[in-house]
Amino acid sequence: MTPAEMKMLFDYIDEHLSLSECDNTLRFAREFLKSNALPEEQVVAWLEAAGGYCDCEAIGNAEELLEDSMTGSIAKPRASTGEIE
Ligand SMILES: [Zn+2]
Repeated sequence: MTPAEMKMLFDYIDEHLSLSECDNTLRFAREFLKSNALPEEQVVAWLEAAGGYCDCEAIGNAEELLEDSMTGSIAKPRASTGEIE
């Protein structure tokens, strides 16, 4: 998933949330990922790790992380680094 695709994902969610209410799932996110043959489960896991458990939260929480990812690859969920606090 490239930063450009991430941006398209958030644009897609944003556009659809302006037409209908968030139903507390990532339905628009999943719709976009499916229709673009992107790794749905992987991206959903990333969104959830960023605090985006539904479409409006994805916009509110995960979109901020997009800026960080613009210079490199998609940010990995913290849990996968193996760090122990
Ligand atoms: Zn929501």
